Amino acid sequence: MHGLMMDSPLTITSIMRHAERCHPDTPVVSVTLDSPLHRTTYGEVFRRARRLANALTRVGIRLGDRIGTLAWNDHRHLELYYGVSCMGAVLHTVNPRLFPEQVAYIVNHAHDRMMFVDPLIFPLVEKLRSHLPSLERIIVLTDDAHLPKTSLDGVVSYESFIAGEPDDFDWPDLDERSASSLCYTSGTTGHPKGVLFNHRSTVLHTYACGFKDTMNLGRQDTMLAVVPMFHANAWGLPYTCPMLGTRVVFPGPKMGDGPTLTALIQSEQVTHAGGVPTIWQVLLNHAREAGVVFESLQTVLVGGSACPLSIMEEFRERHGAHVIHAWGMTEMSPLGTINTFPAGFDSWPKERQDAQRVKQGRPVFGVEMKIVDDDGRELPWDGKSAGILKVRGPWVCSDYFKLDEKSSAHEEPGWFATGDVANISPDGTMQITDRAKDVIKSGGEWISSIDLENAATGHPKVLQAAVIGIKHPKWDERPLLIVVPRPGETPSREEVLGYLEGKVAKWWLPDDMVIVDKIPLTATGKISKLELRKQFEGYRLPGA
Ligand code: AMP
Repeated sequence: MHGLMMDSPLTITSIMRHAERCHPDTPVVSVTLDSPLHRTTYGEVFRRARRLANALTRVGIRLGDRIGTLAWNDHRHLELYYGVSCMGAVLHTVNPRLFPEQVAYIVNHAHDRMMFVDPLIFPLVEKLRSHLPSLERIIVLTDDAHLPKTSLDGVVSYESFIAGEPDDFDWPDLDERSASSLCYTSGTTGHPKGVLFNHRSTVLHTYACGFKDTMNLGRQDTMLAVVPMFHANAWGLPYTCPMLGTRVVFPGPKMGDGPTLTALIQSEQVTHAGGVPTIWQVLLNHAREAGVVFESLQTVLVGGSACPLSIMEEFRERHGAHVIHAWGMTEMSPLGTINTFPAGFDSWPKERQDAQRVKQGRPVFGVEMKIVDDDGRELPWDGKSAGILKVRGPWVCSDYFKLDEKSSAHEEPGWFATGDVANISPDGTMQITDRAKDVIKSGGEWISSIDLENAATGHPKVLQAAVIGIKHPKWDERPLLIVVPRPGETPSREEVLGYLEGKVAKWWLPDDMVIVDKIPLTATGKISKLELRKQFEGYRLPGA
């Protein structure tokens, strides 16, 4: 017997309608090239999204068409998030930091009909234009006054594209399973793969983001969204903030700029902020040097890569802000686990608290997970057994977009193999020990590069640390520690390796340490182990 409840479709349009009705005056603040501090409201954003939908209809965009963006976080990108998806087209957010060949591959593979591009990223599109045959139109996200001069035909500004369009648009009644947005993930091998989200998965994911124990967000809060809208839907913030009525601050092209982020936190009285650890390192360094304390900041969401304890400590001790460490993937919309603490946590001894803080946390309701060994056998949740992490749930991708062959990640029916190696404690707290391909195999056992990096960044003279496996004649691989020192410091190999003693198993201790000026990052701000392995190819460890 079926229940007798309404079958209202779960669409992004419903989030927009709710926000328009209930939070029309909630501010949206953006940094853009044409305005250093642009202020608008959700009401105005959605009014302009309707004008955008009219303009897209006028130029012949239909249900299911892919519309590309190469854009920073700002109000116009937010208008595209809603205008495109709610008219039934698919918003394809492209990461401008990828290699140009990857950008071209992605746009062609998705068969984008239009590209909305930030003026600062426009030169990339200009250069690639002859390799992007599917693009019928290029719209630059600015007004006519700031439109870059170009020899390309038909390039118009966003403001002129939507100017003169009516404020009304009859949003279609979409099937909740229709595709809403598309984002490619770039693995270390092969072409980037497309993750195709739908309205239903997005709405369910947004509900989960709204739990108190997820982002601790509400109507009284102001969120600084530093995580890019071109990567994993900015962790769902463009949907969560309007759903909850949270004020949102977008840093535009200034995402990695300490002074701009500092100024935004102070002037907008930001209470919450979300971003990857490398961004927070930049911000904390700037605040320390400038003698700034962020009084308004309460909660900092960190994910994308493992958050070192030193970042959590500095936020807590200097700024009184609590760090929520989260784990997820583009393939998971991206939310997977959140590290919140049980009752009584405050009275735990510091060492136990620290050991808990660096973990990636417990699955948010909606995500199921398991760890398996190489033969696919499930491993116990004992906090020790490490295996390949698999997940399933309504916002986890069931396949990649237009992939010729089935991906190995979807080999086991109903599960997605994340490619991460993890252990899970009896209470469901998961800890990533490595990406499967970054694990260091020493004498048949695994060494966690993440644990070593976490421990090394605890040293007062170490700013950033990365650990990779180096070939070893006896042990197969042994760890090499690569360190960026804090400004003005030159830590010696002996003092850092000595510091690690007792913090990790003895046989995990790196065989050597090198100092570098900079650690290479990927297009999504993670340490590029691939690049490091290339850089240190042929490196001879002492005694090897
Ligand atoms: P992406 O799809 O580009 O966001 O990358 C997802 C991958 O980032 C995951 O599979 C993990 O390897 C890594 N990752 C994300 N969050 C964390 C975290 N909190 N700690 C460690 N690794 C993380």
